[in-house]
Amino acid sequence: MHAKTIAIIGAGLAGLSTGCYAQMNGYSTHIFEHHSKAGGVAAAWRRDGYLIDGGIHFLMGHKPGTVTYQLYEELGIVQCNHFPDMTIYGRFIDEASGKTIDLTFDLDRLEKDLKGIAPVDSKVIENMISDIRRMERADLVGMMSTEKPPELMGLLDKLRMFWRMRRVLRFFRGRYSKPMKDNPLGAQDPLLRRVLENLFLPEVPLWFVLMIMALVANRQMGLLEGGCPDFVEPIERKYRSLGGELTYGAKVEKIVVENGKAVGVRFADGTEHRADIVVSAADGYSTIFEMLGGEFVDDRIKERYQSWKLIKPIIIVSFGVSRTFPCEPPFSSIMVKDPLRIGNDNIPGFGVRIFNYSTKFAPAGKTVVQVLVESSWDYWNNLRSDRARYEAEKKRIAAEMLRRLEKYYPGISSRVEVEDVATPYTLWRYTLNHKGAYMSWLPAADKILETIPRTLPGLSNFYMAGQWTTPGGSVPTSLFSGRQLIEVLCNQDGKKFAVPK
Ligand SMILES: Cc1cc2nc3c(=O)[nH]c(=O)nc-3n(C[C@H](O)[C@H](O)[C@H](O)COP(=O)(O)OP(=O)(O)OC[C@H]3O[C@@H](n4cnc5c(N)ncnc54)[C@H](O)[C@@H]3O)c2cc1C
Repeated sequence: MHAKTIAIIGAGLAGLSTGCYAQMNGYSTHIFEHHSKAGGVAAAWRRDGYLIDGGIHFLMGHKPGTVTYQLYEELGIVQCNHFPDMTIYGRFIDEASGKTIDLTFDLDRLEKDLKGIAPVDSKVIENMISDIRRMERADLVGMMSTEKPPELMGLLDKLRMFWRMRRVLRFFRGRYSKPMKDNPLGAQDPLLRRVLENLFLPEVPLWFVLMIMALVANRQMGLLEGGCPDFVEPIERKYRSLGGELTYGAKVEKIVVENGKAVGVRFADGTEHRADIVVSAADGYSTIFEMLGGEFVDDRIKERYQSWKLIKPIIIVSFGVSRTFPCEPPFSSIMVKDPLRIGNDNIPGFGVRIFNYSTKFAPAGKTVVQVLVESSWDYWNNLRSDRARYEAEKKRIAAEMLRRLEKYYPGISSRVEVEDVATPYTLWRYTLNHKGAYMSWLPAADKILETIPRTLPGLSNFYMAGQWTTPGGSVPTSLFSGRQLIEVLCNQDGKKFAVPK
């Protein structure tokens, strides 16, 4: 009997993971990728000797002993990478009050520093730190990602999962499940409230923020010393070494369906590739409403795509600078006194990444400094019809960001050798993610734990993987989604899922 064939759309992390686990389990796969390289939104590009990394900021679960680490090991990632621990999650700078706070892994210091800026909230801070300590002991990322796929969980599995999670279950109820923008901790100090609200995104629930801080405290959050290329390339190599095929510059236009069954994919030139199973690890909207013409949807799917909020797109402004920044934290968040004006939006702050933790991003003595600013999809999508205005706006924003950086790094402008601006439209052009939503849906408090089915009603032999099946995306969940999908397929085919050592 021939090995079952699978056509996989997209060579992002989820597509590559699906391909690797499928090959390990006797399926014969071919990945079709629209771009000229793998990685999807985990993207980086070279500019005059600088490596501009426009993707993953930090990696969760990079230490041995967790199920997440095991996943990275299975895919050949950890063997080729070094992930320095994040000793500081970020520096928070509030221009209005002139105050700065470092969110460090050292919880004693964090408690002291937070009390320093908000003495009125001492009790709130103590409770929060004690919750972080409690969470620290649990491998929450692993727990949430690696239980068997929901489709394969029996009663015993569910009981086992509840038992394993017993110490953290309370964190998913009551105020812990409220969004940060609603101030679930009840902090009174306005600066502390702003810090907590913007620690990740204002819409995420309290438990998520506690989990992030617990991971940092537990040294389970790492930086990517080699950036996205060193992370992605080993997975691609693993996939090819397992016999998987990959074609770049192959944009799938249609998923071919016959009698309610997906039977292959079709490209713009009309050619087709037939397969027993089709997996889309590509953008959710274009998969369901364009490649499949919106024929296989129910009310829940329609509602998800009509009314769930997408993650707000970003502009990534990168500068190659001929100086070093030895004492700066890799990430800072600056809440500005006078908001940035982009299109119709007043933007209250921006992030700054300083790639000073590795020699791989810039030649000796030089550094990439990157600014991240939220901006609307519609603004950039409208602007793109007028190339000159689009380019002028990119230039204006780069100059504006540099002006703002001068305050913190005097003289930086005169050291800039390379300037690079990627807009939400750029992200769409390379990865086709709907409206530039680089991590799919907003991981809002009421959505973040939703399980999104990987199948569509009325369509057999078709599955989805990746960030459009896990609200808010992330590296571990995207990689796990590929693994879980193959577990489901093996189960259906009466095979034991295996990962060869
Ligand atoms: C700036 C940024 C920072 C991030 N930071 C972190 C972080 O710190 N930690 C973390 O865990 N996660 C982070 N993430 C999120 C994480 O990187 C993503 O959730 C994850 O990489 C998504 O992978 P994916 O394979 O599901 O999707 P994608 O990366 O979108 O891959 C989909 C692929 O499908 C291809 N494709 C689309 N349509 C077609 C078609 N029609 N035909 C053929 N190919 C197609 C695309 O080109 C793409 O390669 C970050 C993301 C970004 C952008």
